[in-house]
Amino acid sequence: MASKTILIVEDNPVNRKLLLTVLKPHGYRLLTAVDGEEAVAVARQELPDLILMDLQLPKMNGYEATQRLKEMPATAKIRVVALTAHAMSEERNQAKQVGFDGYITKPIDTRAFPGQIGAFLEPGGAQQER
Ligand code: MN
Repeated sequence: MASKTILIVEDNPVNRKLLLTVLKPHGYRLLTAVDGEEAVAVARQELPDLILMDLQLPKMNGYEATQRLKEMPATAKIRVVALTAHAMSEERNQAKQVGFDGYITKPIDTRAFPGQIGAFLEPGGAQQER
């Protein structure tokens, strides 16, 4: 089975490194972007299977980057999971409107995280936080 490609979009280097460290042992091909503009560019070029999208990002925030990806036919079907620092339902509602396929609250639970990601990569995907 070909390994799945995951694009990690996170401007905070500590968080980015943590995500890479947690996912690395699971054999995914991992790409990174550090702002919204780079996220859109890398996603268009690499067509990852899943994007983990921080919301607060320089240049273009995670909402706008996701909206752009969902508007373009080539990238519209890529699953995008919001990494949200807030468990507030308002932010989650906003994320749903933009077209995110799910969300995971930060700080991530490093033990549960690989399973959450695996669920999002399954056919049909995970429609809710686990
Ligand atoms: Mn951020």
